[in-house]
This record gives sequence, structure tokens and C-alpha cells, in this order.
Amino acid sequence: MRGVTLLGVPWDEHSSHLRGAALAPPALRAALRSPSSNLSTESGLDLGDEPRLADAGDLEVPPGVAAVETIEESVARLLDRERRVLVLGGDHAVAWPSVRAHARRYEDLTVLHLDAHPDLYDEFEGNRLSHACPFARIMEEGQVARLVQVGIRTMNPPQRAQAERFGVEVIDMTLWRPDLTVNAAGPVYVSLDLDVLDPAFAPGVSHPEPGGLSTREVIGLLQRVKGPVVGADLVELNPTRDPTGLTARVAAKLAKELLARLLTTAECG
Ligand code: MN
Ligand code: MN
Repeated sequence: MRGVTLLGVPWDEHSSHLRGAALAPPALRAALRSPSSNLSTESGLDLGDEPRLADAGDLEVPPGVAAVETIEESVARLLDRERRVLVLGGDHAVAWPSVRAHARRYEDLTVLHLDAHPDLYDEFEGNRLSHACPFARIMEEGQVARLVQVGIRTMNPPQRAQAERFGVEVIDMTLWRPDLTVNAAGPVYVSLDLDVLDPAFAPGVSHPEPGGLSTREVIGLLQRVKGPVVGADLVELNPTRDPTGLTARVAAKLAKELLARLLTTAECG
């Protein structure tokens, strides 16, 4: 592993309710660089003085289904250069191509999916690329060893049936406890939808769902993941719903903690 690369994917064509997540990468970078904070992680790593950290800028995403291949190949090229990748969405539709690229490289991949929503619809309003569907696409292709979902609080019968069909391990909010630890034997990909947080902490998302996690709880969960974290995406920041910039700050904080895991995880696969 030579280092970690940020890759912005300004793509919200398949958001079902509100557009705006495509504006997230620059907002997130601005929050990361804001003089109101600094670039140190809670483990003491200074990301402002970290030669292994790079930023590939924002991808030019073509319209239509070609976007999936463009995103997958862009992530795969970085992995081929021995880079780990933190994808900055965009909406959650980016998870399918990003996980696909990682699954090509890592056998036995565990996906840890933090979200208020299971995103397991076979199709949503006739769209199989919808941001409500990426984990159905991932699981039907048999790309990953395990899908573990945490923070879910909108499970409905069609998605319950999909979760059972695919053997998804769902730790919904009724099962949440503050010391929850996710154990993985092999490499872990973290897919972090900001609406896993309670809207009190992160209101600037397209689908705010009350009853979620605190910022502290998400940070703790990321720090406690047992297993090598080899890739991640951070999605669904919607700057048009974030007038104070608070949610971008929260996203930047979580990005720093994800980067700490990606930079300090031992070699694997
Ligand atoms: Mn999602
Ligand atoms: Mn969500």
C-alpha cells in the first residue's frame, strides 16, 4: 500500500427524492481545510503533514449507465497503483461501482454499511441504479463475502425479503448498543451514508431520518472495527440542505477518522 487517495464523485443522477449530493465533494474538501479545525485524527495522525495522502480531484461522470463503468474503472486504476481509496459522493449509487472495484481486488470482502436505510430495493420507481438499490446490485452479483448493515431504521417488507434472500446481517437501531463492535476476519470496505446519523447531528442530507446515531457513536464504531479497512465511501451529504455547513463539518470529521483507518491498516490481500 503506497497511500490513500481521495476521489470525488459528483454524481446524484439517481437520487430518488432530492438532487444536491453532487455538490458534496467541494463542500467536504472545504470543511476539511477549514481553519476552524485542523487535520489531525483522534489517533494523533496529522493528515496535513501526511505524504501518503493524495487527492485525485473530482471524476467527470458521464450520464446514464456509462457512469457505473467509469466509476468502477477509476477506482480500480487507483487500486492497481497500490492506492487505497476514499470515495467522496455523490449519492449512495456510487457504492455499487466502488465496491465492485474493491471486490475484484479483495477476496472475502466484508462490506460494513452504515445507513438509516437498507438500500436493498431491486428497483426503485423503475430505476435499478437508484441510490435506494446499490446493495441489491452488490449482493446479487455475489461480489462480497458479507454485508453488515448498522443503523437501519426504515426496513419495510420488500427490503426485509431482500435482506433474507441475500443473507444480510442487519443490526438495526433496535439492536444498537453503544459499545457495538463489528468483527471481520478479512478486509473491510466501509460504506458510510451520512443519514445513519440522527438529523440533530447531520441535517444536511436528502433523507433525514430521526432516531439515528450521534457523531460520537459513529466515530467510536469506525475506530472499533476489528479487521483491516481497505476502502471506503462517504456519501449523501447534500449541501443544498446544509445552510450552516454543520453537516459538511461532521462529514469532514468522519472522513478524517476513515482516513486514519485506511492509512494505518496493515497490508492484506
Ligand atoms: Mn444509503
Ligand atoms: Mn440513507
